[in-house]
Amino acid sequence: MSWTPTREAFDQYMLPNYSPQKVIPVRGEGSRLWDQEGREYIDFAGGIAVNGLGHCHPALMAALKAQSEKVWHLSNVYTNEPALKLARTLVEKTFADKVFLCSSGLEANEAALKLARRYAHDTAGEQKHRIVSFRQSFHGRSFFTVSVGGQPRYSQGFGPVPGGIVHGTYNDLDSARELINDETCAVIVEPMQGEGGVTPGTPEFLEGLRKLCDDHKALLIFDEVQCGVGRSGHLYAYMHYGITPDILTSAKALGGGFPMGAMMTTDEVARVFVVGTHGSTYGGNPLGSAVALAAVDTISSPEVLLGVEARSQRFREHLQKLNEKYDCFSDIRGMGLLLGAEFKPSFGERGREVLAAATEEGLMLLVAGPNVLRFAPSLVIEMEVIDEGMARLDRALAKVVSND
Ligand SMILES: *Cc1c(COP(=O)(O)O)cnc(C)c1O
Repeated sequence: MSWTPTREAFDQYMLPNYSPQKVIPVRGEGSRLWDQEGREYIDFAGGIAVNGLGHCHPALMAALKAQSEKVWHLSNVYTNEPALKLARTLVEKTFADKVFLCSSGLEANEAALKLARRYAHDTAGEQKHRIVSFRQSFHGRSFFTVSVGGQPRYSQGFGPVPGGIVHGTYNDLDSARELINDETCAVIVEPMQGEGGVTPGTPEFLEGLRKLCDDHKALLIFDEVQCGVGRSGHLYAYMHYGITPDILTSAKALGGGFPMGAMMTTDEVARVFVVGTHGSTYGGNPLGSAVALAAVDTISSPEVLLGVEARSQRFREHLQKLNEKYDCFSDIRGMGLLLGAEFKPSFGERGREVLAAATEEGLMLLVAGPNVLRFAPSLVIEMEVIDEGMARLDRALAKVVSND
């Protein structure tokens, strides 16, 4: 007999490191999902900024189907056509000369940090190994990336942390200036912090970091795992700021739902990763690369990129109206289609409560920390679907307020 999994099965069979919502979505199309009972949901979460083109986008399905009938995996003992096409596209569309492909954000950052350390090691010597990062930042969950990340609760309790990592205050150039010196090999920063609360970097801060890195011959790493691939209205957020990093990391929306990551850099820096210095079994997997190529081609089209700002405005207008009605937000911020609405202290730390109420109303949402609602919808979400989703958020907020 076939078995239909329930939410209880999660608690029975899975490690307790997540606490998923009660419903189990089984099908998606565009910006809508359906659960096991056939209830419909509007998706403002986008799989945490991964489903950049919504669910089951025709271009991605065609790419996956076509590649699934050719070759699934080869390892890096052989190269493959989809990986080479993807790398060429990324090089043509960005500052980068060289691309390392992998399967997740943490892997892209791990590669970036190892590359920066090796570059400094080979060009300046052992002592130039310090990594400057920022509080509230998020760079992944491997032990190295979680230690570089600026949220100690994620790295505590796992034993001694790797050395040579220091943390400054985001958007505070003076605090960065105190930490960056000739022993710094790299500064890693999200142009817009995602997990940390949806906080865009100020142009002065990011420009200042560029200059400090140049002055001290340190590499500037932009972690665009969340804010990249169209979310800012540009293919990458660095293009919005006009500030070019030495290394860029990308994942999440890069594969549109297929696990993909990339680390991009210049010829000058790339050359220290000689044969054998780094690798990954699934890096540049043909299935993932074929899907990512379709995602990048589609998202970098003017139709998609130019549509981001109009949708962003629509979201902001709705959020402002909700704020007039409930007086609940102290700040509405973000860029493009990565937006955050921070609850007023008087409203309390209500993120998770609103998330649960929204699920009941048929809306999928995200939080970033305890008191910021986060919106990372499909970049091609229809205006009517935004309106409908916001009507559901309105009902969810009304419910939460009436619980007081
Ligand atoms: C999600 C995220 C990561 C980690 O990506 P994974 O694919 O979960 O390893 C790294 N950096 C940023 C900015 C992220 O948002």
